[in-house]
Amino acid sequence: MPTIRSLSQSMINKIAAGEVIERPASVVKELVENAIDAGSTRIDIALENGGSNLVRIVDNGCGIEPDQLTLALSPHATSKLTDADDLFRILSFGFRGEALASIAEISQLTIKSRTAENNEGAMIQSNGGQHSETTACGMPVGTQIEVRNLFFNTPVRRRYLKSITTEFGHVTETFTRLVLPQPNIHFTLKHNGRIVHELPPTNDPLTRIRQLFGEEVVRDMIAIETPPHAVVRVSGFVSHPNQHRPNNRVQYFFLNRRFIRDRALQHALNEAYRGILVSGRFPLAFLQIELPPDMFDVNVHPTKMEVRFLDSNRIYTGFLGAIREKFLQSDLRSRLAAPPSGVKATETAPPPWEVAEDPQHTLDPVAAEKKRQQVQDWIAKIETAEKDGRRQTTDVRREPAAVSPREDYSRLSIHHLPNREKTADGRKTEPQSLDCAKRGAQSKNCGSVNVDSGASAPGSVHVVQMLARYLVMELPDGIALIDQHALHERILYEQLKERMKAGRQLESQRLLVPVPVDLSPNEFSCAQENAEFFRTLGLHVEPFGGNTMLISASPAVLSKTSSEDVLSAMIEPFLEVGKKLGREELLDELLHSMACKAAVKAGEHLSASSMQHLIQLAAEEINSHHCPHGRPSTLVFTREEIDKMFDRT
Ligand code: ADP
Ligand code: MG
Repeated sequence: MPTIRSLSQSMINKIAAGEVIERPASVVKELVENAIDAGSTRIDIALENGGSNLVRIVDNGCGIEPDQLTLALSPHATSKLTDADDLFRILSFGFRGEALASIAEISQLTIKSRTAENNEGAMIQSNGGQHSETTACGMPVGTQIEVRNLFFNTPVRRRYLKSITTEFGHVTETFTRLVLPQPNIHFTLKHNGRIVHELPPTNDPLTRIRQLFGEEVVRDMIAIETPPHAVVRVSGFVSHPNQHRPNNRVQYFFLNRRFIRDRALQHALNEAYRGILVSGRFPLAFLQIELPPDMFDVNVHPTKMEVRFLDSNRIYTGFLGAIREKFLQSDLRSRLAAPPSGVKATETAPPPWEVAEDPQHTLDPVAAEKKRQQVQDWIAKIETAEKDGRRQTTDVRREPAAVSPREDYSRLSIHHLPNREKTADGRKTEPQSLDCAKRGAQSKNCGSVNVDSGASAPGSVHVVQMLARYLVMELPDGIALIDQHALHERILYEQLKERMKAGRQLESQRLLVPVPVDLSPNEFSCAQENAEFFRTLGLHVEPFGGNTMLISASPAVLSKTSSEDVLSAMIEPFLEVGKKLGREELLDELLHSMACKAAVKAGEHLSASSMQHLIQLAAEEINSHHCPHGRPSTLVFTREEIDKMFDRT
């Protein structure tokens, strides 16, 4: 018979810690929230090795009285609640009184604190929850907490920690969520001795966004501000429709300065942009909702990220209304200037990124700033030259490649495939493959192609495009119905894979003018960590100061896709929550998504020669009958089957 026992306090604390402290970023969140609650005007955060070795938070807040210090470290001890009703009027970040106790239980923690009334501070050290005596120490007014070796006594949890870059990526995202709604507080963030963010206080919330996300993001932001008497007060900024992202990661919602996740608000935001943004693209948003504390409950989730609204319908409509109203008053026509016409690189001084190639891809902020300036000067020079009307080409971003898209065979194939041995030695014996070498009959169908495919395909192929997405082709003993996108995607995928397998890098195309892309902190660390890997796929990026990456070359196969989209497609699989892919699977996923982006789309009209070329490539490709996502690219109906369907036996 199992015996029921009360858990020890240490066990209870460890379990509570599991709910609140998942990784170093959670420690940063809890401690910074405490520092904000303490009324600090300056908060300095320093980490070592992504925070798993050390998180140090120094604030200049109200401090803790020496005789209360042990209490601060005890579970369920808080200065922020006095009676149960307070629970429904919460104005502070903390109130459960369990963060410090939990963190102390699973780390080696030192807390030093001094109030303005005392001339010296008091200090306690804790080793996995075992506290030392309180001793005196010299220090300025405020609180300093050091958390070392997180999870040192819960090895299983420590093993769950990811790479330093990943953990630090979580920290920077947490940091962003904390500092955005607190522009009046001076924050610094240091990692391994290097300053990552230095955010002086400001009264302008847009300045804080600029400090974190860069000029590009704030340039066209639309300010949202409901009148003061509105029941649901919404303020902040949303992006002009000419700025959008392929995911909703740059959408920040705050409720009384607390970062929250809320599907309804997210939905309301996207709803406001319906018809303004193409589907699949997401607006950027930094929005603050203010509500009296009795209109919502934050006590539903241990990390307080999800809240429950008393009247969620009203919040939703109030929120949507605030944005819509602003849109009605704004000029939302695209202000995107026509791209300036470019010049041939050889006609001007070499661009600065060619001269000052930095093989280490270091993130030295001074060097990055210098480079940024050089690039800007260079662009300015080009623009002046162009204003003088000296030169004209069509595409400023790419080296000249002016072929009409559908006649551009090189786009159908990443490299021109000669007659491969595969075809010659007859290994390709798929009964339903599109072997166009033996096509016989001719047809007078309007729009069909009569192809002389040369040596590799001595016969002629009858293909006709239907509904701008399917190709219908006559086979010697039947009909093939081809999904043009799926087929092309498959061919490209196989070609890319073969190239990578052969140990070669994918061809890249240098951009005539490199493109700076502002990323979220999380995306930035991912891009930085994988810069070498992306290079093998033809995408060249390097840090460009702050959270900006500079793209200097993009995969040649994706010449029709904007380099920003290429970068975001490459980052995407790394950041997808809950997806833990190995290197091989990741590569595969990236190749899929590159192939998908580069392939002809449904709805594109193909020229006769493009159709012929596609069919020819398919004939050379063993695996072309399914797209990489597993959908079939070709359906074959034999004459026998068709006859049967028409009762013609
Ligand atoms: P909570 O924040 O939920 O009250 P914590 O365990 O995070 O619980 O903190 C316990 C108490 O310690 C707080 O209520 C507060 O009185 C005190 N405290 C913690 N951090 C600080 C700080 N940085 N400055 C002043 N007081 C602090
Ligand atoms: Mg707290």
